[in-house]
Amino acid sequence: MKITAIHTFILHVPVTRGSISDSLHSLTHWGAPGVVIETDAGITGYGYSGTHAHLPSDRLITQCIDDSLAALVLGRDPREVTALWHEMTRFPPLQWVGRGGIVQLAIGAVDVALWDIKAKAAGQPLWQLMGGTARPIRAYNTDGGWLNWPLETLVADCRRLVEDEGYSGVKIKVGSDLLTDDIRRLGAVRRAIGPDVTLAVDANGRMDLPQAIRFGPALADNDVMWFEEPLWYDDIAGHRRLARVISTPVALGEQLYLPENFQAFLDAEAVHFVQPDVARLGGVTPWIRVADMAAGRALPVVSHVGDMMQTHLHTAIGHPACTMLEYIPWMRECFTEPATVRDGWFLVPEEPGAGTTLRPDAITRFGVG
Ligand SMILES: [Mg+2]
Repeated sequence: MKITAIHTFILHVPVTRGSISDSLHSLTHWGAPGVVIETDAGITGYGYSGTHAHLPSDRLITQCIDDSLAALVLGRDPREVTALWHEMTRFPPLQWVGRGGIVQLAIGAVDVALWDIKAKAAGQPLWQLMGGTARPIRAYNTDGGWLNWPLETLVADCRRLVEDEGYSGVKIKVGSDLLTDDIRRLGAVRRAIGPDVTLAVDANGRMDLPQAIRFGPALADNDVMWFEEPLWYDDIAGHRRLARVISTPVALGEQLYLPENFQAFLDAEAVHFVQPDVARLGGVTPWIRVADMAAGRALPVVSHVGDMMQTHLHTAIGHPACTMLEYIPWMRECFTEPATVRDGWFLVPEEPGAGTTLRPDAITRFGVG
């Protein structure tokens, strides 16, 4: 089988809850700069990244694919995806200008499309190609808990997710200007959802170390499952210090670009819940490597879903280190088989591939420049 053509696209899809904010970011749309890869076997692969729908930035990703990565993979056998990933990440002109960042997001889109082809060629969903068994994965809902919502809205929405929609886990954003506001919001949500529901918090890297340490007792009092991205993304020493002085587990990884970054956090014992994202880490190939690293240390993998779950549902089912997966419904209308939750559990996808096949109208509905 040979790759015969590569096309790029950019989707901007409205988020479902209007304008939303965490401690550092505000969003109205989710971006998916991506790639369609065609083969001489008639199999088409789809892969994409996840962004804040900022068109100039998204164009940098698709330009990287169009102008550099496409020439590397054209004419090659897409089933050699692991070898191609190593060639892409070591391609001298690209690694010189971007070992991480835009280049890694572009490589991730291509790698996912190649895995999509490999799984379709095998006639299997990716989770099965990975050697997994058809097991349900528990969902926790992240499309609530936004930091720009007043306390009453936050509490009512978390209660609705649990009582009306059947979720057994929710995550809320923290990192307010005043720590007392975070403590108040956390306590109110825990009281509303009761003691049996999994509750996580996410500071998106905004806190400093003293503030994060001061938050520790409230996290413990409210039985928080994990404290996500408490400090700036690359601060290994700070996260190590925090992990040693609070009792709540630390989660991070959605902003790490390379398996070596995860290795450094793991070696430092600075993370407990490991959160690789195929969209930022450079695809499924390095994701498996990171999940294996975590499994080797008895640490759970709970992926960040910059791809809006489509590929991560497969990797979660396919890798035994995965215990839960977050649910965000923003891109449901883009895919032929959107990731779906029933009674708090993800349905097992059945279509061959990596879950990334776009509906025929996705690009006409959501495509931009
Ligand atoms: Mg997060």
